[in-house]
Amino acid sequence: MRVLGIEGTAWAASAALYDDAEDTVFIESDPYQPDSGGIHPREAAEHMGEAIPQVIQRVLNHAAETADGEGRAVDAAPNEYGIDAVAFSRGPGLGPCLRTVGTAARAAAQSLGVPLVGVNHMVAHLEIGRHQSGFDSPVCLNASGANAHLLGFHNGRYRVLGETMDTGVGNALDKFTRHIGWSHPGGPKVEEAADDGEFIDLPYVVKGMDFSFSGIMSAAKQAADDGEAIEDICFSLQEHVFGMLTEVAERALSLTATDELVLGGGVGQNERLQEMLRTMCAERGADFHVPEPRFLRDNAGMIAVLGAKQFAVGDTLAIEASTVDPNFRPDQVPVTWRVDEQS
Ligand code: ATP
Repeated sequence: MRVLGIEGTAWAASAALYDDAEDTVFIESDPYQPDSGGIHPREAAEHMGEAIPQVIQRVLNHAAETADGEGRAVDAAPNEYGIDAVAFSRGPGLGPCLRTVGTAARAAAQSLGVPLVGVNHMVAHLEIGRHQSGFDSPVCLNASGANAHLLGFHNGRYRVLGETMDTGVGNALDKFTRHIGWSHPGGPKVEEAADDGEFIDLPYVVKGMDFSFSGIMSAAKQAADDGEAIEDICFSLQEHVFGMLTEVAERALSLTATDELVLGGGVGQNERLQEMLRTMCAERGADFHVPEPRFLRDNAGMIAVLGAKQFAVGDTLAIEASTVDPNFRPDQVPVTWRVDEQS
């Protein structure tokens, strides 16, 4: 089976081809880079409008070149690309981007003559980690730009075990770097500057299974305005913010009696966050998996892989029912591809 995946929830205009016979994922992406400030939804949607047709075309070219692959006869496929379904991100994300990309996905499915599959972007972050690790039923820490939460499977759904009470973790870092005049995205720049920093006290807010970043971001901005060394603020931001995420991830493992953790989302590329989680897992005897970087940041590969699982169990969408949802929560998704598992 081959699935064309399409992703465009915020900044990454991305298309991918997943081939389940060979378990290969081919990804083509074109990132939106704001001239100044953070992501402007209208500009990002304009970027999607220009870039999505191009990345889809590049993936289709690759699909045509490889259509007659192992165990597959192209004349038996619905189209010359050997593509059986089109999967796209229905949300969560920026409304203008989602609508643009949803239109492209519907058009692609119709012109290829194949079913459409609607994928939840945050569940895809989890599932690519489960797919790559071979873990059975892991807890997932999704640490991305607009989100930060822990997910665990229970009674046919991915339940939100804990989450940010305000901003996403990457957005929080990006707001701080914007304040001090650094260009978007700020997360990688915080990681680099943290190498030369020393610890200073900042607010640390965990309430049960939830956490908050707004207080620490205000304090970090204030510290910068007061002349504190930027390297020290960056180092301390990482220690506090990633400490919060690691504490709640450990509690999620403990409360669900799970010994598998996967990481998802663009902030998951941060080596200090990975190190904290790896140490925590090692200390409690849990297995830890970090997907390849190309699957951590927003990408259509994870959409194609989850789309294939959904397609395999007939979880497809009628075109007229394929509206997008900027607030699509992971626990709204019936996990059809794990039907045999009740908990
Ligand atoms: P979502 O999955 O919530 O839609 P998103 O669209 O913002 O997220 P992602 O690619 O998951 O996209 O994450 C982007 C975020 O990751 C940005 O906020 C960026 O600053 C942050 N980021 C990228 N690399 C690093 C890093 N090395 N350290 C910390 N943060 C990072």
